[in-house]
Amino acid sequence: MYTKPDISFENIHVAFASKSDKALKKMYLIFSLLDNNLMAKWGVVLAVLSLKLRLPVRSILKRTIFDHFCGGESIQDSRSTIDELNKYGIGAILDYSVEGEDDERSFDRTKEEILRTIKSAASSDGIPFTVFKVTALGDHKIMSKIQRKKSLSKEEKSSFERTRERVNELLEAAYHANVRILVDGEESWFQDVIDQLADEGMEKYNRHKAIVYNTYQMYRKDMLKKLKDAHHDSVSKGYFLGVKLVRGAYMEKEAKRAEKKGYPNPIHPSKEATDQAYNEALQFCINNKQRVFLVSGTHNELSNVILPELMSLHGMKPDDERVYFGQLYGMSDHISFNLAKAGYNVVKYVPYGPLEAVMPYLGRRAAENTSVAGQSSRELTLIKKEFSRRKEAKENN
Ligand SMILES: Cc1cc2nc3c(=O)[nH]c(=O)nc-3n(C[C@H](O)[C@H](O)[C@H](O)COP(=O)(O)OP(=O)(O)OC[C@H]3O[C@@H](n4cnc5c(N)ncnc54)[C@H](O)[C@@H]3O)c2cc1C
Repeated sequence: MYTKPDISFENIHVAFASKSDKALKKMYLIFSLLDNNLMAKWGVVLAVLSLKLRLPVRSILKRTIFDHFCGGESIQDSRSTIDELNKYGIGAILDYSVEGEDDERSFDRTKEEILRTIKSAASSDGIPFTVFKVTALGDHKIMSKIQRKKSLSKEEKSSFERTRERVNELLEAAYHANVRILVDGEESWFQDVIDQLADEGMEKYNRHKAIVYNTYQMYRKDMLKKLKDAHHDSVSKGYFLGVKLVRGAYMEKEAKRAEKKGYPNPIHPSKEATDQAYNEALQFCINNKQRVFLVSGTHNELSNVILPELMSLHGMKPDDERVYFGQLYGMSDHISFNLAKAGYNVVKYVPYGPLEAVMPYLGRRAAENTSVAGQSSRELTLIKKEFSRRKEAKENN
């Protein structure tokens, strides 16, 4: 029987329950800075440069943007963030967000670190998933060559074999530890190779439920079809399909490369088209709930309203283990905290790693939170409302 889901993202008291007045003021300052497009764009460039020149900016970056969007520099450091989220019924996903390293030794080190996140998840109910990027485990230039069907040198072949082994080692470890593992989505010119590794993992490890989840970036014109094909494959081969839906984080890079190389931009022509594809994908996943396990990774309010509606229409309980709502730490607490309060399964990526190495991640978050992209003004409006609410509550006491 359908019952209207009882959720409101307007409930800012719930959204900011974990924030002290001081923490809220700091948050206001950070989003005010990000709201300035120039500041958001050039601030990160300047920060990276200053770190390279060893200028004394580390401590200020750590206390502000890093502290807001990341759990810490290590798993241990991130513990208090995880505990805080868990206190409000929100799970954490430890996301080792080191990017841009590209030699075999650093790939091995990253694999070892992700194995540690699997161990942490296995020993804590508050960490229901782990995650990794394939490009943190192997050379993306080789993957791009494979996708273009170029022949590989002997060294490239053995390097890719090592990438495949690292991926398999992680998926196998996750399977034995009974920890769900997300394979992040990346740039389209090597994503087919990532898809293939993830599909092989799903076929092997998703026999009784989803352990391995692949990512479907709905800003890509071809993605709804890819999702349907993946579902078809999972049915014919008899495994569960783990789906992490996102809109996609590399829109500008995709457009630039397509223009430079003279091929059609793979991204939908408008935000509305991406939104429609995302919401259709939600519908498709829930229509196929017997086969699909879903993580809906979005800060979009409408998509986060549609999914509970769909679940209710299909008679699914809010805490059905097949559906998780995902947001990034430091963003859209009004969505995460209110969904968790209403009994839905909610997880937040908690990125961590040495400050210098997580700067590309922070750059993407800064870009997403400019006033142009729209997120910062929403956060600022909510924080201002919470300031007024607290002031009124104090006056009435
Ligand atoms: C839990 C989680 C996991 C994630 N994992 C990944 C991942 O593995 N890979 C990845 O790429 N991203 C990932 N992301 C980031 C995600 O793809 C988005 O960049 C981010 O969440 C913003 O989209 P939204 O749905 O939250 O919000 P919205 O503000 O509703 O949507 C913004 C998004 O819409 C799309 N868009 C904006 N303008 C246009 C336009 N003119 N034309 C077409 N499309 C447009 C872009 O994708 C943009 O990022 C993840 C996000 C979350 C919350």
